[in-house]
Amino acid sequence: MEKVQWNNDELVDKILLKKQELGNQLIILTHHYQRKEIVALGDFVGDSFELSRKAAADRQCRHIVFCGVHFMAESAAILSQPHQIVQIPEEEAGCWMAEMADTPLVEPAFEQLESLAGKGAIVPIVYMNSDAELKAFCGTHGGIVCTSSNADKALKWAFEKAEKVLFFPDRHLGHNTGYALGLTAEQMAVWSPHKPFGGNEPEALRRARLILWDGYCLVHTRFTCEQIENSRARHPGAKVIVHPECPRELVAMADASGSTSRIEKYVKDAPAGSTIIIGTEINFIERLASEYPDKQVVELHRSLCPNMFKINLANLLDTLENLGEKNVVRVAEDIKAEAKVALDRMLALA
Ligand code: SF4
Repeated sequence: MEKVQWNNDELVDKILLKKQELGNQLIILTHHYQRKEIVALGDFVGDSFELSRKAAADRQCRHIVFCGVHFMAESAAILSQPHQIVQIPEEEAGCWMAEMADTPLVEPAFEQLESLAGKGAIVPIVYMNSDAELKAFCGTHGGIVCTSSNADKALKWAFEKAEKVLFFPDRHLGHNTGYALGLTAEQMAVWSPHKPFGGNEPEALRRARLILWDGYCLVHTRFTCEQIENSRARHPGAKVIVHPECPRELVAMADASGSTSRIEKYVKDAPAGSTIIIGTEINFIERLASEYPDKQVVELHRSLCPNMFKINLANLLDTLENLGEKNVVRVAEDIKAEAKVALDRMLALA
């Protein structure tokens, strides 16, 4: 049978009707980087961890639909209550950065580092942008999860426990946080996962305190220092803020750097009439520009996350029409329990 094609207005009407029918049994979570028509239909917009906690805290809610990438829906499943079911509108919406590290690669790296530094001398820190198994790995190996808002606190916490930290998968967030805490270039080493000792001389690893997994976000590594120079020339007096997933030289050159919530606050607190140039995902920047029309909010460069963009009105409606069935995101109970240990350590940082 030929599939009926609805136009956007019809899709929106159908989604709104479904929301009305389901009332407080349904929560639609939308990440900051979702397109505007999806954000408009969500119950909450925010970063992945904040959204997952909100849904899990709502006892009435039975169905959680996460409009974001896969690791985000998985985090919601880890934190969910037993009666809640988490779904993602598009199963193929993965995250490139999260896919750059997995347990079969991280486990031997950790073992090699322990063989040099000694057992218990290294604490693993995993960025939220990772699969559930890596969060569980941190739970069982005395480690912690971090977000881009609390990476500094997580790093301080880890250095109180051990001499060295293995930080994965985002090399740039680790690098920027290490610098901010006063580490020098010699105290940080980059671990290339497919090379023995991560492509380092054993002596360099013995010296290093922070070992950074060679993972990165393709959206945040498209920005360049030249773009900052050109933007400043076009907008004299403007402030530049970039996400800490950007390379070090960008962060050093910008006026500020921070997570999505920090960027949002930076725009909110800026005086009316000011110009703010932002280096992060374009959908988020465009939404900030429309929410703060008294300020000029411009992109450093147009960088879109194609994975986030895989969520659209059609697959959101399809999920709502197949609640509890299609693209259900499940995490095995043992992985969930171990991952929660690492997430609880992060919560205790606050
Ligand atoms: S913006 Fe980068 S880190 Fe975020 S989901 Fe897209 S690929 Fe992953």
